[in-house]
Amino acid sequence: MDRKRPNKIKLNLIVIFRYFGFISIIGFVLSALKTKVFIHLEQGLYYLSLLVFTKFVNRFIILATVSALIFISSGFLFFICLQKLGLRFQYERPVIAKLKAFLIILAGFLFYLGITALTLASKNLFSWQKILLLFFLTLAFSLGSKYLRYPNIVKVYNVIVTFFRYISIISFVVLILVNLSLFLYKMIYKPKGPNVILIIADALRADHLGCYGYEKVTSPNIDRFAAKSLIFLNAYTNASWTKPSIATLMTSLYPHQHGACYWKSSLSKQLETIAEFFKNSGYKTFAVQTNPVLSKDYGFDQGFDKYIQKTNAGADDVTASFIKWLEKNKKRKFFAYLHFFDTHAPYDAPEEYGQKFGARPDQLFRAGNFKTIDVRLMDLIGIKQEDKEGLVSLYDGAVNYVDSNFKNIIYKLEEMNLRNKTVIVFTSDHGEEFFEHNGYDHGHTQYQEIIKIPLIIGYGDNLIPEKIDKPVQLVDLMPIIFQIAGIKEKNEIFRGKDLSSIIRGARKEIFSEIILLGDEKKALIVNQWKLIENTGKVHSDTLELFGDITRYIIPGYRERYELYDLSTDPFEQKDLSNSEKLEVVKLRAVMRKYKYTEAVIRNEVIKDRNKKLEDIKSLGYIH
Ligand SMILES: [Zn+2]
Repeated sequence: MDRKRPNKIKLNLIVIFRYFGFISIIGFVLSALKTKVFIHLEQGLYYLSLLVFTKFVNRFIILATVSALIFISSGFLFFICLQKLGLRFQYERPVIAKLKAFLIILAGFLFYLGITALTLASKNLFSWQKILLLFFLTLAFSLGSKYLRYPNIVKVYNVIVTFFRYISIISFVVLILVNLSLFLYKMIYKPKGPNVILIIADALRADHLGCYGYEKVTSPNIDRFAAKSLIFLNAYTNASWTKPSIATLMTSLYPHQHGACYWKSSLSKQLETIAEFFKNSGYKTFAVQTNPVLSKDYGFDQGFDKYIQKTNAGADDVTASFIKWLEKNKKRKFFAYLHFFDTHAPYDAPEEYGQKFGARPDQLFRAGNFKTIDVRLMDLIGIKQEDKEGLVSLYDGAVNYVDSNFKNIIYKLEEMNLRNKTVIVFTSDHGEEFFEHNGYDHGHTQYQEIIKIPLIIGYGDNLIPEKIDKPVQLVDLMPIIFQIAGIKEKNEIFRGKDLSSIIRGARKEIFSEIILLGDEKKALIVNQWKLIENTGKVHSDTLELFGDITRYIIPGYRERYELYDLSTDPFEQKDLSNSEKLEVVKLRAVMRKYKYTEAVIRNEVIKDRNKKLEDIKSLGYIH
């Protein structure tokens, strides 16, 4: 009985084919657990789900294949070395076969070990998934080892192997087809809209820009840009500090709805971000992030092809990173988000910028010994007038530094002939207090210096310049951008209004919430009236991190409500809550509507306390 031996090359090909297929299955399973593919399918973002899923699977397969090949080849090299060193081996077939078997088992073991390590390191897997994975790995090993001893197990094992053989081949074919179709889709489909650049200058209050009436020349380039753009004279944030405010911008949800409000909370993976919508529309997405509370650890990189984190980096660095990326990607439609940190305390722009506005080298922050919290404490015991002015000079210098970088970005776009093909959105996440209400920095009040922000939207020569005095909030920005860019994505979850609605005056109320340091305060503006509610409640995250110190830094207000008439008292100096009781009642009724809107997602919490503390330290809030 002379059985026909199969062709050796053909046999090897089948083995390789199966090997890749097998890795693909594991890749599929792990990636499905790791990615947001199911959430995207549910939301109807099909292209994005396919893209994200394939990216994860491909990355996994490349990693697994390379590590397995390296291991096997280094194993052989090891045995060759042993031979060269004179260690003799019996060149009998069984020994070589055993060696081979040993190497393969070891390679397999390390391969599984690698997968397990990667899986366990991933933050996206829940504990039950980890347990399940470990269970299957143990099962695979015990089956493998028993196979060597007990013939009964062999039968079961063979059935499993046969099953996997077909699944492996199918997985491999599917993988090739998906990659190929995505490749073809990208070749054929090009988004029709313009490029979009979103520029955030952290803590930049509107009234320190020339185009918003500032008497000092802090922003000549932004002013020139504003003259050819839509400039919103009454733009507001929805929160007093960075995390909730940017999360609102990215999701078009109010802070209490998206839940990314305090130190420990993250932007939920269940929410669709502006970057995800752009990516789903075929855009390349890019960001340079300088604020540590918006890092990948807090989920703010969702939807970005590239998310460069440069904590506390200067504006020059941000601009350089963007231009470097742009030069490589100029042929693709893109959405880019640049976050400048220079206007956030301690206003670290190069010295000459501060000097232009009168800052001296020995002033607060310059000596490097002061943190924002010191300045707050100093305010209680009396900070010198010249030090207060010094802070403003440094701040103005930082605004000017951002402005000169803004110019460089515009020049680069002109040079690349992209100016008329690009929508530029310039705004901020919140303002900054300079002792207008006996405080400094941001995140602890809801006064105008904190919630009024700049918002300028330019699109080369394609938009008719206009000064819009109708109110607008960060929650509206995503629908506004989508309307200008012609992005069709409509999601019933958006709470913002688009550009035509804003111009019609559809935003009747301005609502801001979330206090970082101190007791929670909410603000509501309707027509000329502004109501501030001092709840007296401090969030547990704030208490846990800052403890009783919050009480000393920000004394709570005795009055539960404050009422201001912004038409006669724009700087909120005269509380009318006692004389205009009817207005208070009316505004409280409107505010209740916001208070009782249901949260859209459950709050996701960062578990790593050390990481969290590092972030806060790097912002200068604590020592
Ligand atoms: Zn900020």
